[in-house]
Amino acid sequence: GEYSHRVDMRGGDELSRLADEFNELTGRLQTTEEVRRRFVSDASHELKTPLASIRLLTDSILQADHMDSDTAREFLIDIGEEAERLTRITEKLLTLTRLDTAHEVQTVPVDVGTVVRRVEHMLTPLAQAAEVKLELSLQPGCVIRATEDDLYQVAFNLMENAVKYNLPGGTVIVTLFTEGNTVCLRVEDTGVGIPEADLPKIFDRFYRVDKARSRAAGGTGLGLSIVRDTVRQHGGTITARRREPEGTCFEARFARWREEGEKE
Ligand code: ADP
Repeated sequence: GEYSHRVDMRGGDELSRLADEFNELTGRLQTTEEVRRRFVSDASHELKTPLASIRLLTDSILQADHMDSDTAREFLIDIGEEAERLTRITEKLLTLTRLDTAHEVQTVPVDVGTVVRRVEHMLTPLAQAAEVKLELSLQPGCVIRATEDDLYQVAFNLMENAVKYNLPGGTVIVTLFTEGNTVCLRVEDTGVGIPEADLPKIFDRFYRVDKARSRAAGGTGLGLSIVRDTVRQHGGTITARRREPEGTCFEARFARWREEGEKE
């Protein structure tokens, strides 16, 4: 974009430094503004698609001269699915907004292993249906300061993706361990993988490598941006890389919480 309030200052060290800072700040504000605009436009587009489908399906029912009840029922099922999709998108948009605005989060010491086991329990039916095996290797004592629900969401999104983007007969390997003062949650899969060129973009809002596959799996392209925002809010980091010989490896790292008086 164009810097509309650019200040030009030559000479006078102090003044030119201030001018530089001012210009840099204006640039950053503009970028934030652009990101926001883009987000609103992307979100509107994502909401318009299911709405258009619903419109089309209701019109078909209303305009048909004769429609047997089985066909009508099928259309209604499709309408229900599109409505569910709208619900999923809006729920996730609300989560992202909350992560954007909440500055102070109420955190307590949370055992990450317990959270991962709860996610495993929830995902077992999905994994069985997809013929994907869940393998957990959890070191005890991996505790971090967190909001439990948010941490659950992080583990859930990563593990659900690892099942969704897997292949029949594939595996999801979840490893939890400490490394010095860090707790690392690693979620690996033997699935379809992510092309190297897409890796830097997968945490962006609405980004999907394969829109058709994501859509079929009920995806919104918001899961990983929620993961990234939540991990950052917890002072952690998240990375994604290709796994050899196949699949993807996600790693979230957090500061380890220690009991008072516990030795280093
Ligand atoms: P979605 O709701 O589409 O799953 P996410 O934000 O969770 O959205 O993920 C963004 C995209 O990243 C997905 O659409 C998919 O293309 C890719 N992706 C995420 N996790 C994996 C994975 N474990 N293996 C392969 N691709 C993945």
